[in-house]
Amino acid sequence: MQPKQRILNAPVYQPGKPIDAVKKEFGLTEVIKLASNENPFGCSPKAKEAIRAALDSLAIYPDGGAMQLREAMAEFLGVNEDQLIFGNGSDEILQMISRAYLDETSSTVMADLTFSEYRINAIIDGAEIIEVPLKEGVHDLPAMAAAIKENTKVVWVCNPNNPSGTIVSEQQLLAFLEQVPRDVLVVLDEAYYEYVVAEEYPQTIPLLAKYPNIIILRTFSKIYGLAALRVGYGIASSELINQLEHVRMPFNVNSLGQLAALASLQDQDFVSECRKRNREGLKQLTDRFDEWGFAYYPSQTNFVLVNFRQDSTELFQKLLRQGIILRSGAALGYPGYQRITVGNAEQNERVLKALEELVVHTSK
Ligand SMILES: *Cc1c(COP(=O)(O)O)cnc(C)c1O
Repeated sequence: MQPKQRILNAPVYQPGKPIDAVKKEFGLTEVIKLASNENPFGCSPKAKEAIRAALDSLAIYPDGGAMQLREAMAEFLGVNEDQLIFGNGSDEILQMISRAYLDETSSTVMADLTFSEYRINAIIDGAEIIEVPLKEGVHDLPAMAAAIKENTKVVWVCNPNNPSGTIVSEQQLLAFLEQVPRDVLVVLDEAYYEYVVAEEYPQTIPLLAKYPNIIILRTFSKIYGLAALRVGYGIASSELINQLEHVRMPFNVNSLGQLAALASLQDQDFVSECRKRNREGLKQLTDRFDEWGFAYYPSQTNFVLVNFRQDSTELFQKLLRQGIILRSGAALGYPGYQRITVGNAEQNERVLKALEELVVHTSK
């Protein structure tokens, strides 16, 4: 059997290494994973309660329209219910966007070093990919606007950007939106929205009224700590949401995910606490990098991309043997770097201790 050629051209997504696989491979019992930007503080206890209460209803299909979650989310965000779409993670919404707007006749603009799913989906749907280099780890929005062609359908702006952790400011975004033709969809992927503390970070929901060509993507996988349950959402004009509904699978968001997301939304204290502890953890890490003289991008997220100036695959492997899973920069287009998810204080200390041995002492 022979699949469509372009399917084979799409790289298979490479996730962070799972904890159990590393335990087995190296015969370890204590493994920490700081590779996939998961929340080291878990999720709200309210989410767990909601799941426990739902365990007798597993025989029933999920609500395809996610009505309860939709209602609560619309109120929380101050938008109409028909301005929301839910996905099996925001990954699935990226896929819906690609499916709905991209084909062999179209092109799509993205940063060269950004979330890999934009590219993978565009390859699968056969669109031409126009990559615009980041400028010091930040989206170069003027260059991205200039790269838009007659047949460009979608522009991807990952804000904050994964893997660099940087943001574009409100001022930069507004100037960009003025330059983008109104029939080009601008995807604002805000997977790390709740972690951002910078004042210049744009609040994008109020922009929807003026720019109906925007869709904002957020997720319950990161600060809400529900990555296992796969719930993401998109916010846009009702017209745009309606177009995407045509490519959405009927029961794409599972019941436990919907209930856990609903309960989590009602526990904003948990979110604030995680945001605060994350900034403390980030400082714990970067203070030490400053001390050691390793450069990193200024992060508004729960991860940091650090230049250790040595073969990232090798360092990644050495850390694995000590039971620490990071994301090798080589896999992200940053050879010499590691992307480190901010853990809890103890996990951060453990990774710093290992790095001190492996990169500080050996390079002196
Ligand atoms: C993690 C991540 C996502 C996907 O999140 P899910 O909701 O778990 O699918 C999307 N975009 C970026 C930039 C991410 O880092």
